[in-house]
Amino acid sequence: MKTCICPGSFDPVTRGHIDIIKRAALIFDKVYVAVLINSSKKTVFTVDERVEMLKKSLYLNDNITIEGFSGLLSDYAKMKESDAIVKGLRSVTDFENEFQMSLINKKLNPNVDTIFLNTKAEYMYLSSNMVKEVAFYGGDITDFVPPEILEQINSKFEKTRNEN
Ligand code: ADP
Repeated sequence: MKTCICPGSFDPVTRGHIDIIKRAALIFDKVYVAVLINSSKKTVFTVDERVEMLKKSLYLNDNITIEGFSGLLSDYAKMKESDAIVKGLRSVTDFENEFQMSLINKKLNPNVDTIFLNTKAEYMYLSSNMVKEVAFYGGDITDFVPPEILEQINSKFEKTRNEN
């Protein structure tokens, strides 16, 4: 059985992420979506919220498992006996960062390869940061996030706006 990992912060998950994860699930028998718990990186959504939003968005896909993880991705890949790490590429900047990270991961865990899937043209501009920026100011994020979690994201930012 061939397995892969799709890692990320998913703060929050976007349609761009979902596209990459679903395409990975067509290539691999099993996909682990690893939601990064990083104490030094401040996130708007807790790890439980981020995992829950991914589960709501991917509930129809039974070869996809979603869980939080902390530590080194290379160790997580060893633990899961994974064959590959799948990452999405939007731009040359993504490529530069991801290329370096893939070399480090290969050095730390020679059994795992990083595979890149190009973004769909319509999601090229899409990032979690952009979604947060638009949602914070009350803009329409309907086309950017999975429909199952639209309300959850909007209500989170409505609360944030009211607190400020
Ligand atoms: P972001 O870069 O949006 O903050 P993450 O750090 O959670 O997201 O990214 C996890 C992975 O998803 C990375 O490999 C990133 O390149 C990929 N990704 C994010 N947005 C897109 C998109 N719109 N299209 C393709 N891949 C994407």
